[in-house]
Order: sequence, then structure tokens, then C-alpha cells
Amino acid sequence: KANRVFHPEDTVIPIGNQTIGGNKLTIIAGPCSVESESQILSVANQVKAAGAGFLRGGAYKPRTSPYSFQGLKEEGLELLKIARAETGLPIVSEIMSVSKLDKFVEDVDIIQIGARNMQNFDLLKAVGQTNKPILLKRGLSATIEELLMSAEYIMAEGNDNVILCERGIRTFETYTRNTLDLSAVLAIKKLSHLPVIIDPSHAAGKWWMVEALSKASIAVGADGLIIEVHNDPANASCDGPQSITPERFASLMGSLEQIAKIE
Ligand code: PEP
Ligand code: MN
Repeated sequence: KANRVFHPEDTVIPIGNQTIGGNKLTIIAGPCSVESESQILSVANQVKAAGAGFLRGGAYKPRTSPYSFQGLKEEGLELLKIARAETGLPIVSEIMSVSKLDKFVEDVDIIQIGARNMQNFDLLKAVGQTNKPILLKRGLSATIEELLMSAEYIMAEGNDNVILCERGIRTFETYTRNTLDLSAVLAIKKLSHLPVIIDPSHAAGKWWMVEALSKASIAVGADGLIIEVHNDPANASCDGPQSITPERFASLMGSLEQIAKIE
């Protein structure tokens, strides 16, 4: 189902009154984690004003250490809904467990499956039984074929609304958090009709690389970007070093508008 041989046309996924895929760029922006009502409202208003189409925010966080901030959980989803109501931005948030699926289907506009759950086949099958748009991130060490097979798991259950995300892969290099595999976009577009977006924030792990990697993503034909934006990166509960401020995000949007049609 994900194979371009059987579906030559690019897939365009409808989400509310917007779409992802086709000849334009979708921008999803927001903090790694929802931290408070004032934080998410301020970031949401600022990314909206700068031209973002969707708001991201983690409520359930897959952290390497069990002692790190795990997210505001249900309260985080409530705060995202408040931000959506205030800004009109549809919301994107990561699901970690099948047990929360009904809640996510009801509350969020795009369900994110994180890199660590790319091969959680029970979760893939469960989201496949909904008709929600799914943002499927590439696993830390997953091949392109494995990513496409995970998309196939979702689609095999009847949900064709899958958006793929290249977010950097693990290599021997340690200077960056991950290594952005730009050529994955070209490969996926040859093999599949599904939209592909890039997450330059998790790929680099460094905020100052985000702008150049965003431009490079456009050059290889990505359908969109998911960018971490935080009101106070130095004090963020999660992923501060890779988060850009709302001011930098606005200037990034200004430069992306010169080279891409953002919608
Ligand atoms: C995230 O988007 O905050 C996240 C945890 O990403 P990934 O699953 O790509 O590491
Ligand atoms: Mn993050």
C-alpha cells in the first residue's frame, strides 16, 4: 500500500482545512514538551504568527532515563487543546501506549509515533484501525525499508493517512545528536507516494544547525518540517539545546518563504 509502483501519484493527506503533501511545505512547530499553560500558549501564538500550520507538543515523553521529566501526560493534552482553541492550530502529539489510543483519537489532530516506537507493531496496528493522520518517525537505527514496512503495518489495517519523518539516524558520529539522512527523502519519494517531512531539531541536536538543515530539507524535496521551538531553551525540561526561540523561528520562516511555498 505504501509502494509507489501501485500508487504513482503523491498522496496528499487532509487534516481539518489543511493538507500535508503535494507541492508545498508544511511547518509543524512547538516545544519538545508541554510544560505549562503560559508556556504552550506563548509558543503557540508566536509560531502561529510566524506562519506555522501545526503546533507540536509532547505530553507523554519517551526519555532515556526514567528520572528525566516524563511529560505532563493527560494535563499536557488538555493544555494543547487550550492552545488549539486559542490559535486555531491543529495539534500533533506523541502516543506511547495503545491504552491511550481513544484519548489521542479524540484529542489530537495528528498522532505521532516516535522513533523509539517505530517497530512497536501492536501500536502500529492499533493506530491503523483509526482514520487519524499518523506521523511516523524513523527509528534510531532503522533502514528506509523498515520505516516503509512500519507504514505498511498502519496501512494494512486500513489507515492510509501516514506521514513519514526522517529525524536523523544513529551513526559513529557523536558531534551531532544523530546524522540527518537527507538522501532518505529522495529514496522514500522514489519508493513510496507518502509525504515525508524532516525533523532537523532531533537530527542535529543543536539549535544553530536547524536553519541550514531546514533549507537543505527543502532542496531534497521534503514535504514539511517539524521544528522544536521553546520560549526559554536554556531552561527547557527537554531538548533545550536543539530548540530555537520564537524570534529565531520567525526569522527562519522569513528565509524559508523565499525558497518554498509554505501553506
Ligand atoms: C520528539 O519529537 O520530541 C521525539 C521524542 O522525537 P523522536 O521520536 O524522533 O526521538
Ligand atoms: Mn524532543
